[in-house]
Amino acid sequence: MEYQIPKGLYDILPFSKEEFKLIDKWQYLESVIFKLAEDYNYEEIRTPIFEKTELFVRGVGETSDIASKELYTFLDKAKRSMSLRPEGTASIMRSFIENSLNQHKKLNKFFYIGPMFRYDRPQAGRYRQFYQFGIEVIGKKSPEIDVETIDMLINLFKRLELKNLKLIINSLGDADTRKNYKKALLEYLKPSFEKLSKDSKERFEKNPLRILDSKESSDKELLINAPKILDFLSDEAKDHFEKVKDLLEKLSIEYVIDTNLVRGLDYYDDTVFEVVSHELGSQNSLGGGGRFNTLLKSLNGPDLPGVGFACGMERILQTMIKQEVYFPQKKAPFLFIIPTTDKAKEFAFILTKELRHHKIPTDIDLDTKKIQKSIGVADKIGAENILILAEDEMTSKKATYKNLKTREQVAVDFDNLKTFIKDKYYKLKGKL
Ligand code: AMP
Repeated sequence: MEYQIPKGLYDILPFSKEEFKLIDKWQYLESVIFKLAEDYNYEEIRTPIFEKTELFVRGVGETSDIASKELYTFLDKAKRSMSLRPEGTASIMRSFIENSLNQHKKLNKFFYIGPMFRYDRPQAGRYRQFYQFGIEVIGKKSPEIDVETIDMLINLFKRLELKNLKLIINSLGDADTRKNYKKALLEYLKPSFEKLSKDSKERFEKNPLRILDSKESSDKELLINAPKILDFLSDEAKDHFEKVKDLLEKLSIEYVIDTNLVRGLDYYDDTVFEVVSHELGSQNSLGGGGRFNTLLKSLNGPDLPGVGFACGMERILQTMIKQEVYFPQKKAPFLFIIPTTDKAKEFAFILTKELRHHKIPTDIDLDTKKIQKSIGVADKIGAENILILAEDEMTSKKATYKNLKTREQVAVDFDNLKTFIKDKYYKLKGKL
């Protein structure tokens, strides 16, 4: 076909062989997210999907892969450089500053859901348009807030009944910590520079902490005896990290420390965290985040600290499907009406409209050839009940109402038809 979807993109559909593309699964995940946000008192923010390129470059850091290689950038008609958002945090910070949201509350708790765009090599679990759910807390630097965000991520996975996940944490300390640590790391790596991978060689100059992130086995081997950032934490950063660990233990949240966890974005300090699943292959991170104390200020905003996370909705769904967790049944019409004659069709068409106006999910077969075939259609779409209006029914003025599950069948007087259907529906929904 000439017009195929671009590489790395996909459709979310009512029917698909690939289960994670099914719209009812997405709607379920979204409903769980909205309830979670409500329970933790987070408010939603919706920002545009594109912004000025410099916001993302400043926001995620020039040397990050996202800004240096993965941005979808275009010039608008006035030749201004715009980019599709690669992540949510920079836009939320821009919006927070621009709308002076700090004037409303001391502690601001936001969440967002939406598509993000990164030009990367597509593979299982990695797309060029993908969806994230994320949160940001702005206004206070406290270990409790770090732990609240971690708990929220863990609780999301718990509510979705995911198993065998691992929470990894680390601390990147403050600016001084990282300055001292970078020096030590470079000194350690310098004699082995030639053994580093190509990417790590580039990072050596630009952003040596990212070398810790390397997936290359040769880099990993070199790093085994490298100095650890946790040995370089300032007193304040150490105290913060100790409290975070202590609170996690008090909340019975299991974690492991990985001193190589730096996360891809440049803005983090202090706590960073990630949740991984073994079931996802190489793209094993379900979500992660961390604290950022200077990001707002660096974007010319107020000097307020923040902490947040983002998780990938495709990977969450893929893990849920792999682990065969509970998904609610797909939504289907309460009633499917099957008229077989022209007269019946007109009667049915009016009835359908009236039931829909009473908020009863109803559909109609406007093209009945054989009743049995139409019942097949009703079965396929998962309709709970059918209403048959064939010649006999039109003559006797009694419709045949049948529950497709119990196979129970009754003849219902036309005069009483609407009341009968309404009763059945509202009784079922517990609304009567
Ligand atoms: P990041 O914004 O890079 O910290 O990513 C947060 C989460 O988003 C990751 O843990 C993944 O679950 C998800 N994610 C990031 N990039 C992609 C991608 N290209 N395709 C699908 N999911 C992604």
